[in-house]
Amino acid sequence: MAGKLIIFSAPSGSGKSTIINYLLTCNLNLAFSISATSRPPRGTEKNGVEYFFLTPEEFKRRIAANEFLEYEEVYTDRFYGTLKSQVEKQLEAGQNVVFDVDVVGGCNIKKFYGDRALSVFIQPPSIDELRARLNGRGTDTPDVIEDRIAKAQFELGYADKFDVVIVNDELEKAKAEALKVVSDFIKK
Ligand code: ADP
Ligand code: 5GP
Repeated sequence: MAGKLIIFSAPSGSGKSTIINYLLTCNLNLAFSISATSRPPRGTEKNGVEYFFLTPEEFKRRIAANEFLEYEEVYTDRFYGTLKSQVEKQLEAGQNVVFDVDVVGGCNIKKFYGDRALSVFIQPPSIDELRARLNGRGTDTPDVIEDRIAKAQFELGYADKFDVVIVNDELEKAKAEALKVVSDFIKK
């Protein structure tokens, strides 16, 4: 049986990756959708694991070749996109595919796949807490952090377009909530 799609979107720093990484350990037959990006790797990130890292030129060539299910210029000159070939391969293998995409990409994937997809918005308790988490994560320069905060206000306005909103205040509670909605959806 072909797999389902579970989409996570949120302002950067909300705790999406932390929650997704937890779900990937929960025996739900989940596979992470590896996106392509034109931003450089950060920390210990490796090509083909967190992302396929492409130059902006290569990214644009693949846009022109219609290779993306969706893509966005999430921050200036920083493209992110989902390669059609990647997703179809995972779904056909019967895996449930988990996406970590920006709010616009999340809505586009949901629209494309309809009831086969569950869209989940991870909401931070406040903008101040978001800033504190991004600072605490220590992976971005102050300029990049301010870019992300500036975008967060816009992104929060998308919450009600998602099937489910999870407020990530207490991490353990948010993880449990995510596990429940995702396992219920997969069993349906
Ligand atoms: P995102 O993937 O949404 O950008 P991350 O999962 O990288 O966010 O989380 C950002 C930072 O906040 C990380 O350092 C993470 O450990 C921390 N974090 C995640 N959830 C919580 C929480 N509920 N309370 C405090 N810190 C958190
Ligand atoms: P980061 O640089 O923190 O890894 O990601 C920045 C933003 O890009 C996040 O909001 C993340 O969800 C989003 N993103 C990652 N991959 C994709 C993708 O394939 N498509 C879209 N639209 N957004 C993505």
